Amino acid sequence: MSSIIKTADRLENSIQALNIAHAHSRDYLSGLEARRVFPSDGDIDNLRRFLEPLPAQSSDPQDTLDLLAKYGAPATTATAAGRFFGLVVGGALPAALGARIMTSAWDQVVFNDATSPVGVALEKVTADWLLDILGLPAKASVGFVTGTTAGTLVCLSAARHSLLRKAGWDVQKQGLWGAPKIHVVASEQMHVINQKILSLLGIGSADIEYVPCDENGAIRLDALPELTANSLVLTQAGNVNSGGFDPIGEIADRANQVGAWVHVDGAFGLWAAASTSKRPLLQGFDKAHSWVTDAHKWLNTPYDCGIAFCRTPQDVHAVMATVAPYLKAGETAAPKDMVPEFSRSARAIEVWAALRSLGREGVEDLVDGCCRHAETLANALKSIGFEILNDVVLNQVVATFPGHEDKMAELASRVQQSGEAWLGPTTWRGRNAIRISISSWVTQESDIKRTVKAIDREIVSDES
Ligand SMILES: *Cc1c(COP(=O)(O)O)cnc(C)c1O
Repeated sequence: MSSIIKTADRLENSIQALNIAHAHSRDYLSGLEARRVFPSDGDIDNLRRFLEPLPAQSSDPQDTLDLLAKYGAPATTATAAGRFFGLVVGGALPAALGARIMTSAWDQVVFNDATSPVGVALEKVTADWLLDILGLPAKASVGFVTGTTAGTLVCLSAARHSLLRKAGWDVQKQGLWGAPKIHVVASEQMHVINQKILSLLGIGSADIEYVPCDENGAIRLDALPELTANSLVLTQAGNVNSGGFDPIGEIADRANQVGAWVHVDGAFGLWAAASTSKRPLLQGFDKAHSWVTDAHKWLNTPYDCGIAFCRTPQDVHAVMATVAPYLKAGETAAPKDMVPEFSRSARAIEVWAALRSLGREGVEDLVDGCCRHAETLANALKSIGFEILNDVVLNQVVATFPGHEDKMAELASRVQQSGEAWLGPTTWRGRNAIRISISSWVTQESDIKRTVKAIDREIVSDES
């Protein structure tokens, strides 16, 4: 027997679910400061509770949400609070979090104007704001993707298209077999995802010419090979360990003399452009051809959200469009024609909300604040016997404890297990170290103090 339920009654269920989700989320956030950063063994053990067969029958949505709150929430890492320093993990700004919830209720698919007028309109506004605050060319294309990995695919496939087209090869039509070779030049310190994207694009590791870096992980200009019209140079703004910046402007000058392409991986470091004091690190970066960054890292939107920029939108359109092969001058492409995804969420709205609520000053304060905390932390670590291995130019600190270098991975793990803070191990220029990345709007001076104490406690207990 099928009953006819009015739409309003059906949606009443969604409203109830939102109320429940709201209450659970509020409890979660209000308890976050007091709880462990990494969950306890018991909380992880409780994840067993999810090991049930797929239910045969439907149930009240509340049952499902309650289960998630009871056993899911305690097994999270407290990345939304102030002492998670692993990878480059930002928190979620209040307006961005709120926007995420609202856009989830709207459930928009940002495909083109017809599927989501608000999604497309706000994407355009946000694109202009981003180009402005990051100091990128006003006519560059802006694609909202899941993160820097997907954004790198956008940028490097556009680069491949452009370089091969100039060499008389249409990769869209002719594929790669028999194509002229692209001369790929990359920092020996490039982030691992670049290798993956290059291989997806038919460029193997043996095809890459790696450039040696200086002590802070930046490309050495004197070691840069000669560039030609078919060179693709992968640079980075913000080394994932040291935070170091390649001399992008100088590399771009050389590239532009011969028609080579320069790509900038600025997953977090591109945000230095929003800070008056840090902008000099990016000197001349706007002379490059493509740039990628994350919003989910330093802009502190919820995961997952990244942005791909390209000086020549027609190159992105040529490789990403599902209908027309070329973008006519002055025309704006539908979102689906500028990114790998066909259907996707209205994630630009979270970026819009973050930027609108922070304003230019707020973004600058966010960047500067994290950099200041990194300096404070580095100095405090030095005072308890650590050696700081990187030049702390941004938000990254790499440190080791002389005499105990073989125990840095263990130290990171012990700090994680203490629940006080989360930091990871790394190796830097052949030395074992701990790595700390400060990228959240929530982090305060007191979090830095508490983290140093926790590190000190683990070092001392190890020595005794
Ligand atoms: C995090 C990071 C990436 C990868 O970005 P995702 O958002 O994880 O895809 C690439 N490069 C650098 C420098 C990074 O810090």
